[in-house]
Amino acid sequence: MVARALTIAGSDSGGGAGIQADLKTFSAFSVYGMSAITAVTVQDTMGVYRIVAIDPDVVAQQIDVVIRDLGVDAIKIGMLFSADIIDAVVDRLRHYPDIPVVLDPVMRAKGGTSLLSPGAENQMREQLLPLATVITPNLPEAEALTGRIIRSPEDMRSAGTALLQYGVPYVLVKGGHLDGYPANDLLVSQHEELWLEAPRVNTVNTHGTGCTLSSAIAAGLSQGHDVPKSVIQAKNYVTQAILEAPSLGHGHGPLWHFP
Ligand code: PLP
Repeated sequence: MVARALTIAGSDSGGGAGIQADLKTFSAFSVYGMSAITAVTVQDTMGVYRIVAIDPDVVAQQIDVVIRDLGVDAIKIGMLFSADIIDAVVDRLRHYPDIPVVLDPVMRAKGGTSLLSPGAENQMREQLLPLATVITPNLPEAEALTGRIIRSPEDMRSAGTALLQYGVPYVLVKGGHLDGYPANDLLVSQHEELWLEAPRVNTVNTHGTGCTLSSAIAAGLSQGHDVPKSVIQAKNYVTQAILEAPSLGHGHGPLWHFP
């Protein structure tokens, strides 16, 4: 039977991030993709111009109907935007404790536009982290969630370990923002630590990198792989997709890789 994955995230009209990136990534992994849209962004490679949130009840209902009818083997969570939408998603996830969840704690777009209401970081940390299987913060997100400053690989380890205390079994701290170092990521759990190495690619085509990585992890989980294996193949996929990016648009272009 085909593996099935659900993304709970925002729409990017430019197709490089959000729901669109997630569904393309699921397809690249031969996984059947479904979506619960949380917000519609008016967006291209240069920026986010407008955001319209979806009614939290409609978000919850999208989640329920696809899980009940088509079935879902893994969930990826991206942009949640508001405290009310976080509440609705938390409430639904509590009904489906057996489905693995990849949480990309999206807070801000590359151009600086906020994709999460101010103050909702605490709610995300206290309510959503305990329901996730793996969380994938970049460094600014890890700093916001832990209140720590991250300037070195050792700081990445301390932040990752600190986040484990909220009850999430795996934390993937992404090192792409660590200037002067390769783009290495660190996967930590209570029992293991795994560095995923990648060269720093000099490119502007990095729009949707976090979305693509987290949905690739969810694709692996939906196919029955464990977290370390899903993370390793997702990291390889994203590295390849950055290298093969087609240079579309006038700003940060989207990724592209279909094996
Ligand atoms: N737009 C949406 C809907 C997103 O979900 C995200 C990130 O998760 C972004 C934009 C930001 O993508 P980036 O920071 O790669 O530009």
